[in-house]
Amino acid sequence: MRKPIIAGNWKLYKTSKEAIELVTLLKRDLCDVDTVDIVVCPVFTALSDVSDTLTESNIRVGAQNLYWEDAGAFTGEVSAPLLKELGVEYVIIGHSERRQFFGETNETVNKKMKAALRHQLIPIVCVGEVLKEREENKTFDVIRTQCEESLKGLSSEEMEGLIVAYEPVWAIGTGKTATPAQAQEVHHFIRQLLTKMFDEEVALKVRIQYGGSVKPENIAELMAEPDIDGALVGGASLKSESFAAIVINSCSKVQTRK
Ligand code: PEP
Repeated sequence: MRKPIIAGNWKLYKTSKEAIELVTLLKRDLCDVDTVDIVVCPVFTALSDVSDTLTESNIRVGAQNLYWEDAGAFTGEVSAPLLKELGVEYVIIGHSERRQFFGETNETVNKKMKAALRHQLIPIVCVGEVLKEREENKTFDVIRTQCEESLKGLSSEEMEGLIVAYEPVWAIGTGKTATPAQAQEVHHFIRQLLTKMFDEEVALKVRIQYGGSVKPENIAELMAEPDIDGALVGGASLKSESFAAIVINSCSKVQTRK
């Protein structure tokens, strides 16, 4: 059985002080949760403080990006070994905002995936179609290309630990969530694709998160779908009440499956 995973993408929000305040509350409110993996992904400058605050808690720390080289003349970049040094265990790669605003491509995503895995960071690789692509019935083609090119050259062993986040771009930060059926259709497609690219054993182990306006009110119905293994949460991860409620409401999947 795949353990559900809820991750909060804080984007470019929260000073270190605010970040410490938020994780202190989450640590208190979520200390009893052990059936769902919980991850928070603050900005780079808050990673050290957040990691220290979460020591010995059940909440793990993720970064929002990384560079594929370990060190060198790459002004402004941050590498996997530097993240590891701060206690970071996960890293979001290829978020649509990075693709849209910072020129991220499937090729750079692939290089970043390999760098993360080389240093035992768990990648959360994001894929998703824009509205025009959905309207033109190109969703599956887009997802196929993103998965094939982003995951190129990875071994079955490397695949088993990683996380794919399906985030329809039209649902990110818009308040417009994909219906559970729309999300399940794409999650199922991704799992079938992983079976073709690797094998069924790998496909059944990879956790596929849904992302796009997830809230405490819609997480349970999304999690009820068989191929939805958790959520990547943006806006609603910035407040302890809403993020904690999403984590707690996602636990119903675990109970249903027992
Ligand atoms: C995200 O940033 O990955 C995201 C899904 O944002 P939101 O939950 O705000 O739509």
